[in-house]
Amino acid sequence: MSKKKHEHRFETACVHAGSHPDALFGGVSVPIYQSSTFAFANAEQGAARFEGRDPGYKYTRLGNPTTAALEACIAELEGGGMGLATASGMAAISTVYMAFLGNGIHIVSTDSVYGPSRTLMEREFGRFGVESSYVDTANLANLKKALKPNTKMVYLETPANPTLAITDIAGAAEIAHKAGAIVVVDNTFCSPMLQRPLDLGADIVLHSMTKFINGHSDVVSGMLVARDQQLFNRLKTVLVQMGGTIDPHQAWLVMRGVKTLGLRMRVAQDNAARLALDLQKHPAVASVCYPGLPSHPQHELAKKQMKGFGAMISFELKGGVEAGRMLMDTVKLSTLAVSLGGVESLIQHPASMTHASMGAEARRAAGITDGLVRFSPGCEAYEDLRDDMIAALDAIDRRFADKDAKVAGV
Ligand SMILES: *Cc1c(COP(=O)(O)O)cnc(C)c1O
Repeated sequence: MSKKKHEHRFETACVHAGSHPDALFGGVSVPIYQSSTFAFANAEQGAARFEGRDPGYKYTRLGNPTTAALEACIAELEGGGMGLATASGMAAISTVYMAFLGNGIHIVSTDSVYGPSRTLMEREFGRFGVESSYVDTANLANLKKALKPNTKMVYLETPANPTLAITDIAGAAEIAHKAGAIVVVDNTFCSPMLQRPLDLGADIVLHSMTKFINGHSDVVSGMLVARDQQLFNRLKTVLVQMGGTIDPHQAWLVMRGVKTLGLRMRVAQDNAARLALDLQKHPAVASVCYPGLPSHPQHELAKKQMKGFGAMISFELKGGVEAGRMLMDTVKLSTLAVSLGGVESLIQHPASMTHASMGAEARRAAGITDGLVRFSPGCEAYEDLRDDMIAALDAIDRRFADKDAKVAGV
């Protein structure tokens, strides 16, 4: 829980944090305790476990050794705090909402958050009297203005999805704490390698581990990391009762994935940085959004707040939605699929896919244009990724140039 625990460099911690040879046979990989329940030696021990006098395991929804290893690992990567693994990123998000909000309580959130984080709040929690405001938190004046006497939570996603707008976490935490609100940060896009919100003053960090942390597009899972015991206890109480706990096999797979997080993130980030530059030069591309480009509106803040510019790019084609659709249908190496942060490159169209549920008006207000394409480079060799993308863009350029020529009557 203390800073002292974070003794090693990031890549080292990815490999070792939470792992120890198994006590029974010395297995180097954490065993999968695929058991729903745990036998007590006698009635006294069972009672002691339920009273908390004996820390042993009772029932997997309440805790499991494989899951505990993963929780210790991610908490250490986030620089301290206490981890709580969940069945999905959305299970982490719904647990945070459920734990700290209620009738008559107000939350302020980044406007271009992951689509379901917003629709869950507005449509479901709204039914129970939770009030919510969505603002562009990249400008802290908007956050300040949105606070009310009943605001109890500031919910940030930075870089945001899919606009990659960046919020000053330390600045937002200062404002929120003065107003008596806790700060929750969805750190999925950065992973703890590039950004550690607890160090910047956040109270709770959450992840969709489905993305970079697991990194192999084969598991859905999530994680909550709380700054202190009190916040952790509240989250755990709600999670085990709502039932969104992770399965031990799922936890083991993520444990396997996280060992290469440092390596994967480095390669994917390098691919993103190089592709951002090459896309910028292409005649079919209208604009490229990547925090590493000096043209990004919060480029200076990204330099200060993040240890790298990340591995997500969004861009807009001159031919708008139609050209974007053609791109997704033309690329061969990159897969047309939602999700991100896996070893394979994924491309998708937020307005008709991940952010379709929030509605056209909210999308417009959050800066999610109809022509925006979101790209998550994987760990392929850069040259292959580039050749595939450029070939598709060249085809689009020819097609749209022909069309323009016909319209002009040439
Ligand atoms: C995918 C994602 C989520 C939701 O996670 P699931 O694992 O799909 O439930 C939340 N936030 C962000 C930023 C995401 O990309």
